[in-house]
Amino acid sequence: MVNRRPLIAGNWKMNFDHLRAVAFVQKIAWTLKDAKFSPTEVEVSFFPPFTDIRSVQTLIESDSLGFAFGAQDVSPFDEGAHTGDISAGFLKKLNCRYVIVGHSERRQDHSENDELVAAKTKAAVKHGLVPVICVGETSDDLEKFGASAVPVGQLRSVLAGLAAGSEIVVAYEPVWAIGSGQAATPAQAQDVCAALRAVIAEEISSESAEATRILYGGSVKSGNIASFMREKDVDGALVGGASLDAEEFAKIVQFPRHVIA
Ligand code: PEP
Repeated sequence: MVNRRPLIAGNWKMNFDHLRAVAFVQKIAWTLKDAKFSPTEVEVSFFPPFTDIRSVQTLIESDSLGFAFGAQDVSPFDEGAHTGDISAGFLKKLNCRYVIVGHSERRQDHSENDELVAAKTKAAVKHGLVPVICVGETSDDLEKFGASAVPVGQLRSVLAGLAAGSEIVVAYEPVWAIGSGQAATPAQAQDVCAALRAVIAEEISSESAEATRILYGGSVKSGNIASFMREKDVDGALVGGASLDAEEFAKIVQFPRHVIA
């Protein structure tokens, strides 16, 4: 049985300029230090806007804060005439560990489809980044097909052709739960995360399925994180709104103190 280190990931979306980003990461670091909570217990990762990454990197590395960081999107291309895009190679040079691909806001706002998400995933892996692959159903999908069908289909098409041994993280984010204040039930999160793990076993390998962290995302707060983390196939959370409040995010990170097995 593989021990999967929990990951709590804060997706800042288009919030915080680089000055606020630095102040925010410092505040989280002090709060966790005061609480004697070490980020070795739980991996904590920030996903700032592109313009903040260099400042966040400098702070985390110079103060040895032990946090990871990544980007919210990546180009499928390595370089060239792609105005406004950022390549995986550039992100790797900034020591990003992760990159989010396929977030529902990009699927909606930028018409990203599974094919493009697959290309971004491959670009990330090629450059040594760990893609955080987001999948999830809309409320219409939920009504028509149930909770698992759409996220399972999305993940299957992204994983097809991915090299065995590639490290990935999967985030199950029901679209209707994002930013709505209405989280999925822990039982639904568990059912879908278990189905996603089965897809990884089929498309890559059972070892990869066992090792891969699968996160739940959608209106996660300090008051509900423990209930998700009790589920056996939920290995962490992708947090949007609540990741912008330092005290709230620090409480979410400290969920092991509230999880009663
Ligand atoms: C997200 O955008 O990935 C997310 C989960 O947002 P929220 O936590 O605000 O629902």
